Amino acid sequence: MDLKSFLMHKIFTLLLSVIVFISCQKQENTTPINNSKESRFSIVIHGGAGGINRDYFSTAQEEVYKNKLKESLDAGYLVLEQGGSSINAIQASITILEDSPLFNAGKGAVFNSEGKQEMDASIMNGKTLNTGAVAGINHVKNPILAANIVLDSSKHVLLSGKGAEILIKKYGIQMVPSSYFYTDKRFHQLQKIQGKDSITLDHTAFSRENSFIDDHKYGTVGAVAIDKNGTIAAGTSTGGMTNKKYGRIGDSPIIGAGTYANNATCGISSTGTGEYFIRTVAAHEVSSILKYTKASPKKALHEVIFNQIAPLGGSGGMILIDKNGDVYWDFNTTGMFRGYKKSNGESIIELFEKTSFPKNKTIK
Ligand code: ASP
Repeated sequence: MDLKSFLMHKIFTLLLSVIVFISCQKQENTTPINNSKESRFSIVIHGGAGGINRDYFSTAQEEVYKNKLKESLDAGYLVLEQGGSSINAIQASITILEDSPLFNAGKGAVFNSEGKQEMDASIMNGKTLNTGAVAGINHVKNPILAANIVLDSSKHVLLSGKGAEILIKKYGIQMVPSSYFYTDKRFHQLQKIQGKDSITLDHTAFSRENSFIDDHKYGTVGAVAIDKNGTIAAGTSTGGMTNKKYGRIGDSPIIGAGTYANNATCGISSTGTGEYFIRTVAAHEVSSILKYTKASPKKALHEVIFNQIAPLGGSGGMILIDKNGDVYWDFNTTGMFRGYKKSNGESIIELFEKTSFPKNKTIK
């Protein structure tokens, strides 16, 4: 081989290696985003926001709440880990909170001005934008399962009262006598404000009276999850507000106010003075900010809670998972029962003031 052919051969080999290198690089960059997302999953839950102050809790009481939140979080996480859907995961989490008298949903629901309990719940699938919601029911043990029946098995979005219960009964969901929901403590809560023209979030009554946690159970419950397929789902369940008018429906069953999920943006569950969340269409507003601006989820939550809800006189908080599986929350109350768990091992459960935000570092 003469020098010229030798050089040509070298240049050709070099060029070939460069081409192979570049095409390998390209291959890596074009790895479908979905593939990397497949292993990502996360879940965030709340158990209500309000005057939740560290000073009112003994260490033992703090543990009771944290343990129940952990049980709920773990149940939803397990569904996701085993490849289950986010819709199933949030139901697994929420039913645990509904079955506990610690929270204002299901078993722990508050009383209305007539001394009755009327429960609201909703659920939304962020991939299909299918939703289901129930309002004013009091014979279904787990209202979130009822909301899911409306999503799955009816052409409607929101069913109320007797009509909702007739449908739900057909699908084998556990029905209970309304006496199942009675708790002495909730009833005493009502007696304290019954006859007055005011309604209270459990937590507000709690902070105002500076009473002990056992006398004033907190809040609405909610969960948001993203599964291994990148589908986001959100759900919320509540007994509403103590001494609410008979027939009053809050934000929790209102899609766009108490609950919203859209794979293109995020999933959200709200808690707080429902009327203000309805007036600001709070959950959808956050989603729209993400859709139409470059604001981060953190900024979007802050905008809606502090610049829209608070000036009207409302209070509460929201939990959020964005399309990347990152978790966010914010509230303008002293505390919010909350927790999250992600597939990268991050997990936090908190009750009180904002000491740390979800890290959202390196979700797998
Ligand atoms: N948002 C619920 C309602 O207004 C109450 C709560 O979150 O505690 O019915």
